[in-house]
Amino acid sequence: MSKPFTARSYAFTEQGDALNWIGGKFVPAASGQTLPVENPRHARAMGRVVLSGPADIEAAVQAAHAARREWAAMPVRERADIFYRLKSLLLRDLEELAWLVSHENGKTYAEGRASVEKAIECVEFGCALGNVGAGEQLDVSRGVNCRVDHEPLGVVAGVSPFNFPLMVCMWMLPQALVGGNAFLLKPSEVVPFSAGRLALLVKEAGVPDGVFNVVNGGADAVNALCDHPSIKAVGFVGSTRVGRMVYARGSATGKTMLCLGGAKNHLMIVPDADRSLTSSNVVASFTGCAGQRCMAASVLLAVGNVDAILGDIVTGAGKIRLGEDMGAIISKAAFDRITGYIDDAERRGAKVVLDGRKAKGPDGGYWIGPTILDHCTRDMPSATEEIFGPVLSILRVKTLDEALAIENANPYGNAACIYTTSGAVANYATARLEAGMVGVNVGVPVPREPFGFGGWNHSKFGAGNMTGYDGWRFWTRPRKVTTKWAIQSDTTWMG
Ligand code: NAD
Repeated sequence: MSKPFTARSYAFTEQGDALNWIGGKFVPAASGQTLPVENPRHARAMGRVVLSGPADIEAAVQAAHAARREWAAMPVRERADIFYRLKSLLLRDLEELAWLVSHENGKTYAEGRASVEKAIECVEFGCALGNVGAGEQLDVSRGVNCRVDHEPLGVVAGVSPFNFPLMVCMWMLPQALVGGNAFLLKPSEVVPFSAGRLALLVKEAGVPDGVFNVVNGGADAVNALCDHPSIKAVGFVGSTRVGRMVYARGSATGKTMLCLGGAKNHLMIVPDADRSLTSSNVVASFTGCAGQRCMAASVLLAVGNVDAILGDIVTGAGKIRLGEDMGAIISKAAFDRITGYIDDAERRGAKVVLDGRKAKGPDGGYWIGPTILDHCTRDMPSATEEIFGPVLSILRVKTLDEALAIENANPYGNAACIYTTSGAVANYATARLEAGMVGVNVGVPVPREPFGFGGWNHSKFGAGNMTGYDGWRFWTRPRKVTTKWAIQSDTTWMG
């Protein structure tokens, strides 16, 4: 795990074992159990990951606890300085990390690289906290001042999903560490290798041993994090099913919890939409990362006659080359789930106008080509449930209000987008969409730093957002200090 990743192409490359990183050392898990970690492009194990339980979480909490006071005592600007160094190390190792993300996740190299660049942007926000992380203060009456200090919580933890191995860790780490906490990261057991490389970079940047720890594993490790009384907050990113459970379990022990969940993102096209911008943007939204991102387009609501644009979407998606423009599906189980949704929609009467079920990519891995299901209906699972693959379900509607009603009725609320050239239509829709992240002619409306990333409804459990200033507020607690220093005539030495 600790060794540098040497691949600079898609050629299959082994990486060994993903161990835990506790107190500045790689260690095996107490259970002795491991799982294979597959490179999805090759459907071949590139190593194994250890499976942690309560004993490993306890060891990591001890290490974090021992390190946290000295770390918290450093001025915030010194901690931010370390993140400047981390940024330059991430830039130094960008190629290595991009290829590692690509191999463990199945993304294309370009997508792996973009995800590392986005992780670096999150680190930059951590650097900025040395300046913009100041608390507020005000003289609230004569001689009396109120001030807010952002204090660390202590030992905190983050749990991440498979689809962005390094990037999602960085949604949490900068604010949590610059905020003065000691951190336990539980990466997805499906993609554990980037976290191990990150641990070494965090150490090289100057973070003391024990301040950042990695505990690998699955549900047992997450449950132990939720149950541990010394862990004060948990950030989680993953599916709605698991996010809801983790939120309830962690809250029950009094932790501050923020759990981002799954998505079913609706895009709406109205007749005045720009033909070329809209078609290329929709294709990028539902095929990027092979549809395995919480911001991917999933349902397309075609308002009125937009057939020319739909035709261009089918043509554009049909040109995508597997393995070059689009990466692999994460696992055989994901392949079966995604093709199951397509089969089901076809049986229920949807027209498969682009069929990726039999598409073959290179290297023998798990591949599904872009798939478009036209004339879907509101009751089809493909139109209502998260598929998490490169599948676009088109519903034909007559009016914008009908489209909005369908979007509003779906229980998720991560992202939505309207394609139009009319400001009035854009304003009408953005004010009515039930989604935390809304795009106008932007099919993947990710709020870049310093804006906070987070959805609504069943796409998020907890208050606030994961990134930006909200992340800073989540990983710190405000201490309100009221002081009175002025000499006042109505008080005496005794009173
Ligand atoms: P997942 O929910 O299966 O796993 C997420 C994390 O939870 C992993 O670390 C995993 O080990 C752990 N986990 C799995 N089962 C558990 C259980 N029973 N109890 C406790 N912990 C458990 O998600 P995934 O398949 O890794 O990722 C894909 C999902 O994540 C999709 O639903 C996607 O929409 C969502 N996602 C959401 C966002 C967002 O910002 N809202 C971002 C990325 C991914």
